[in-house]
Amino acid sequence: MGKTVLVLLDACRYDAATETAGYLEHLIEAGLGAKYKVWGILPSMSRPMYETSMTGLIPADHGVNDNRYNFRSKCENIFSLCRKAGKKTAAAAYFWMAELYEKTPFDSLNDRFRLNGTGDIDHGIYYFEDQYPDSHLFLDGEFLRKEYSPDFLLIHSMNIDLAGHINGGGTPPYVAQVQKTAEFLARLIPVWKEAGYNIIVTADHGMSRGGYHGGPSAEQRTLPMYIFSEKAVPGDLSDKLISQLNLAPAICRLLDIEPAAAMLKDLEIKLK
Ligand SMILES: [Zn+2]
Repeated sequence: MGKTVLVLLDACRYDAATETAGYLEHLIEAGLGAKYKVWGILPSMSRPMYETSMTGLIPADHGVNDNRYNFRSKCENIFSLCRKAGKKTAAAAYFWMAELYEKTPFDSLNDRFRLNGTGDIDHGIYYFEDQYPDSHLFLDGEFLRKEYSPDFLLIHSMNIDLAGHINGGGTPPYVAQVQKTAEFLARLIPVWKEAGYNIIVTADHGMSRGGYHGGPSAEQRTLPMYIFSEKAVPGDLSDKLISQLNLAPAICRLLDIEPAAAMLKDLEIKLK
């Protein structure tokens, strides 16, 4: 079917996911998914890495170089490729995603719910407070999935990033938030699998011990990636770092759509 859910856990570090995401790790241990260790692109900031995640390009090529950029994406991205291929998309995400792929500037009074959107995302529910609970966010996404049966669904959480900025990456409150958010996936992944979806769980960037991100240290750019799909060769494949540029073309492969010409061709992610 090619339907795919992408769960983007904002600022989730590889080590924190490995330490606490017990259900995801269980699926890997049981041979029911693939796990990779991802080396993030720079700068390790949100908006540039949203665009890198969706286009498969580095900031020098896509032009979203910092968080203040609030223009629509100028490049082919997963949403625009789906639209061209006649596939439906949905997103439950931070409003910066709306600004990149749906409508900019985002007007919270009118744009929180953009069902039947006019940009590249067909159906979106967008939040604009970092405190918006991940539990509610996941259910916004699940509402969109059940209501519209999208081919591609993006669910993008923010509470891990918030916990990292307040407490520092790797601190007990930060790791506890990773566990809390990941635990919610234990309820949804079986439902999504039953409905025939491929699932990717990954992050945009990491978080330093000091509570910031943007730079090149390992803690800011070492990210988890879990893939649950019959198309993915299963196993713990995290022995080597793979580039974050694998994400967009891998999603295209899972969706059965043609990747953009500029996307990585020789994937380090093993797909059947
Ligand atoms: Zn952040």
